[in-house]
Amino acid sequence: MNIDEDRMTYDLMCAISEFACRPTKNMIVNDYASLIFLNQALAKLFNKYFVIDNIIKDYHRAQKMKIRDNQNTLNNYLKNFFNNRKLINDISTSYIKNFDQKQIQKYQYFKNLRHYSKQDFIDIILSYYSTFGNNIYNIVKKYFDENRIQTGFSINDLENSNDDYSGLYSFIIFLQTGYIFGELSELNTMNAGMLVHELGHAVDSETFIFPQQKNISLFDDYLSEIPSLTFEFGFYDYLEKNHIDIIGSNIMKNINYNNYYSWFKVLNYAASLKEMIVNTEGDIEIPPEEIDSINKMISGILDVTIYEDSEGNVLDQECVIRLRDSLIYALGGFFARHLSLMISDDNKEFLKILNNIITSRKEATFEELIEMTGISLEDYISGKLIYPKMDTDTLVLKNRYEKKI
Ligand SMILES: [Zn+2]
Repeated sequence: MNIDEDRMTYDLMCAISEFACRPTKNMIVNDYASLIFLNQALAKLFNKYFVIDNIIKDYHRAQKMKIRDNQNTLNNYLKNFFNNRKLINDISTSYIKNFDQKQIQKYQYFKNLRHYSKQDFIDIILSYYSTFGNNIYNIVKKYFDENRIQTGFSINDLENSNDDYSGLYSFIIFLQTGYIFGELSELNTMNAGMLVHELGHAVDSETFIFPQQKNISLFDDYLSEIPSLTFEFGFYDYLEKNHIDIIGSNIMKNINYNNYYSWFKVLNYAASLKEMIVNTEGDIEIPPEEIDSINKMISGILDVTIYEDSEGNVLDQECVIRLRDSLIYALGGFFARHLSLMISDDNKEFLKILNNIITSRKEATFEELIEMTGISLEDYISGKLIYPKMDTDTLVLKNRYEKKI
C-alpha cells in the first residue's frame, strides 16, 4: 500500500504555508514534530522535500515552547502515575500473578499467520470497521480511498528511536487528518492488526481530538492507547469468530498478553516507590537514587537499550519515557481488553460506552472510567472477565503447538 505523492505534497504545502504565515502556539506544540516527520517521509518515499529550516520566524522561542511542552507532558504522565499508584499496583500484581500461575508461553509462530490478497486485506479491515456504524467506517475508508497508508516503511530510520515500532499515525491538527506508516509489507494478520490499531488512532483523532479544538494531543494523555488497542483486540476476536484466521489471531493476542506482562512488571516495580519529589517549579521528579534502579529494571525486563549521553550518563528523561510507555500500553491494554469484550454484532451499546470514556478521559479519574464500563472495581482488578478469555485464547495455541504424546 502506497501513499499518494500528490496528496502528501499538497497537504504539506498547505501546512507549511500556514506555519509560515500564522503559526499558533497549538500548531508549534502539536504539529511541528509531525511536519518534520512527514517532510522526512516525503524525502524518503519520493526523493523530494520542503526546505523548512526557517519556517518559524522566532525559531528559538518556538523551540523553547516545544521543550517546555515536552516537560509538561512527561510531568503529567508522572502525576497520573503517582496519583494512580495504589490502583496500578493492585492491577499489575493481579496480572503478573495470573500470568505466572497459568504459565502463559510465547507462541511466536509467525509463519502460521494467514496471508491475504490486497483486496481481501482491505475488505476484511473495512468489514470489521463497518460493524461500528457509518461515521467510523467512513473515516477508515477515507484512509484507503485517499491513499494515506504506507506499508513496508522503515519508521526507525526517521524516528531515531530504539523502539521496534510496527506502525505510526502522524497527523496534523491544522489539516484535521494524517497518514499511517507501517513497517511490514507482507499482507498478513500481523500487518492487518497493526493497521487496525493505527486506524483506531485516526478514528480517535478525527472523532474526538480534532473537533475539541483544545490544546490537546495524543501525547499528553495517559489513556491515549485505549481506543486503538480496543479496536485491535476486537479485530482479533472478529477474525477468530468469523473463522478468517483462528490461529493467527490468537498468536497476535498472545503477543499482546506477553507484552503487557513485561510492561506491568515495570509498573509494579515503579509503583513500589515510596516517594516522589516536587521541585521548586512544581514538577514531579523521581528520586535520583531510584532513577538508576528503575532504568536497570526497565532495560532488564524490556530488553531495550536505555539512551545514554556522550559522558555515559543515563538520561532521566528516558526513564520517564519508558514509564510512560508502560503506563499507556499496560494500563491501556488491560482496559482495552475489558472494553473489547463488549464488541458484538450490534455495537450501539459499546459505542455509547466508548464515547463516554473517550470524551471524559481527561477529566475523570481512572476509577470513574472503570465505573463507566459497568464493571465493578473489584471485578476489574481481579481480572474476573478477562483472565478466562486469556485462558481460552491461550488454549487454542496450546492445543496446536503442544500436542500431547
Ligand atoms: Zn498506538
